[in-house]
Amino acid sequence: MQATFNQTLIELVCGDITQESTDAIVNAANSRLAGGAGVDGAIHRAGGPAIMAECRQIGGCPTGQAVITTGGNLKARYVIHTVGPIYRGGTQGEARLLASAYQNSLKLAVKNGLQSISFPAISCGVYGYPIHEAAHLALKSCIEFVRENKEIQLIRHVLFNQRIFDIFAQELKKE
Ligand code: ADP
Repeated sequence: MQATFNQTLIELVCGDITQESTDAIVNAANSRLAGGAGVDGAIHRAGGPAIMAECRQIGGCPTGQAVITTGGNLKARYVIHTVGPIYRGGTQGEARLLASAYQNSLKLAVKNGLQSISFPAISCGVYGYPIHEAAHLALKSCIEFVRENKEIQLIRHVLFNQRIFDIFAQELKKE
C-alpha cells in the first residue's frame, strides 16, 4: 500500500527491515545503544560488529532522539538509531516522544543528504505501545515532516507481521 504526500512516497510493506535497500534503515534502539532483542538484535546480527563499535563510540541516545552509524554489511548505507518511549499508560509524554523519534530520524536523514528511509514499528514490541495509536502517530509524524521538507523521496514502514501491517494500512487510509 502506498500514498504520496507533497513529493514523498510513503509505502507500507510486510517484511524484514534488515533486507531493505533504502539509504538508511531505522533501528528501534534502547538509550544505551546496547543492542538487544527484536529489531535491534536483528539489525546488529545482519549488519555485523562494525555497527556496535560505532554505537559504543557514540555512547547513548536519549528517548525521542536519534543518532546515525554506517550500515556495516547491510544493503542500507546507514542505520539511524532512535529510541522510542516505553509505554506506561500514555500519561508520561509517550505520544510526544514517539513523534519525536520519527521526526528526529527524518531530520538526521536530511542532514546526511539521504533520500530514502525505512522504519520499523518503533515501540510496538517490547516497549508495549498500543499498535493503533503508534501507527497513527508514526504516519502523522512522517506526513507532517514531508509537508515541510522535500528532500526525502521515499519513506517505507516495514511491518514485521500481517496484523501490524493491517493496522498501519487502516490508519494510512484515514490520512
Ligand atoms: P521496541 O523495543 O521499540 O518495542 P521491538 O524490536 O521490540 O522494539 O519491536 C518493534 C517492532 O519491530 C515490533 O513490531 C516487532 O515485531 C518488529 N520487528 C522485529 N524484528 C523485525 C525485523 N527484522 N524487521 C522489521 N520489524 C521487526
